[in-house]
Amino acid sequence: MIRRILVLGVALSQLTACSGGSDDSSVPNDTPKLLTISTHSEGDGVLEPVSLQVGKGKTAEFVAKPGAGYELTALSGCAGKRTGVAYRVERVEQSCQIQARFSPIQYRLDATVSQGGNVDISTQQVEHGHAAEFVFTPNSDHILERVGGCNGTLTQYTYHLPEVTGPCTVNALFLPYLPDPEVLTRIRLPVVVHVLNNGHFELSDAQILSQLRATNLHFRGKNNAEIETIPDTYSPFVADTGIQFYLADKDPDGQPHSGIVRVDATTSVFALEGYPFARSDAGGSDAWPTDRYINIWVGMSRTRFNEPVLGGRAHVPGSAPEPYIGVSVEQGLFGTIAPREPNYDQGKTLTHELGHFLGLIGHINPPWNDQNTHRHLTCDGLAQTDCVNADLTMNFMNTNVYDNRQKMFSLSQRQLMRAWLESGPLQALYLNNQP
Ligand SMILES: [Zn+2]
Repeated sequence: MIRRILVLGVALSQLTACSGGSDDSSVPNDTPKLLTISTHSEGDGVLEPVSLQVGKGKTAEFVAKPGAGYELTALSGCAGKRTGVAYRVERVEQSCQIQARFSPIQYRLDATVSQGGNVDISTQQVEHGHAAEFVFTPNSDHILERVGGCNGTLTQYTYHLPEVTGPCTVNALFLPYLPDPEVLTRIRLPVVVHVLNNGHFELSDAQILSQLRATNLHFRGKNNAEIETIPDTYSPFVADTGIQFYLADKDPDGQPHSGIVRVDATTSVFALEGYPFARSDAGGSDAWPTDRYINIWVGMSRTRFNEPVLGGRAHVPGSAPEPYIGVSVEQGLFGTIAPREPNYDQGKTLTHELGHFLGLIGHINPPWNDQNTHRHLTCDGLAQTDCVNADLTMNFMNTNVYDNRQKMFSLSQRQLMRAWLESGPLQALYLNNQP
């Protein structure tokens, strides 16, 4: 009888051993010693189980469970081994603690922009659930047409993402505010406006933008109301030059920039002698590299009776020293926002000087000693025509007339200016600004 019970006991013991897994203690222990593995979590998340009691030499397993928007960024303790969010301690030898850290998930947000504008920051890291913003800036000859992606909303130029829940990309499209030229390619040239502030005038950013807008309409033949007043005999010769200007959006080092440089200057710095306006060592403002930018200096040139001495002038490549080429305009004749100098309030001065700068040397109504390159050209660039540029008294290159008498560039002037850029003295400027 006793013998049979003993046999049964062995059988039970074998059965237990088979289902015990890693349990290698075949010797029964009447009071098994339990060890405690506790956990400690930082941030939003827990380890499961939160604590565990195991026998010495046994294996303990935990799983990390991050809260929404959090991820496991550290897991250690008890000489365990991590596999993803799982943590395994083999052969527990003593009570110990496992530490876990949960951190907010960071998402990468990217912004891409088309030609014609910039974004303040092209890549940013944002915590889960947080808001983010991108600010877009069109070039001065473009508009921000639309922004999409990441479920944001656009308010003027700011694109607001109320709650970021994943990585994504925002796309912005800028469009030129003037259409493509009909036959030619568009040429866009960056300008930098140096404001030589002597304390006696103010020139706002808006005033500068108004000037560039006016000049672009002139060069693109889009000053429609004026062009309609040109007699039918001459209107076929009105040119869209395809050339336009925008405030530089990057400085010479490639850093974002408004394209407007403001310096404190004396009145006399605007004098031509020695080009002090273009030299910081003489109280002016140094030109940006002239093979990449068109430099425009705006300063004060007035008599004691507040009459303009000098309206504007061009420092034309080939005749002015290379570091000083560009154009200068008297501040009161720059821009179209009132008050401007009476009769010179339509922005024609800059347009006229840029015409010189782009190779229209001299005027269509020159004095006898004018070095002229375009007066005798035909209006349309053809060999035979009964119209020459000198007939176009409403031309931007007419001189000694009020702004309202200058209305057009001709087709032959277009040809000359584009050649001056594409294969002439300003070729480097042209090539360095190819899209
Ligand atoms: Zn002139």
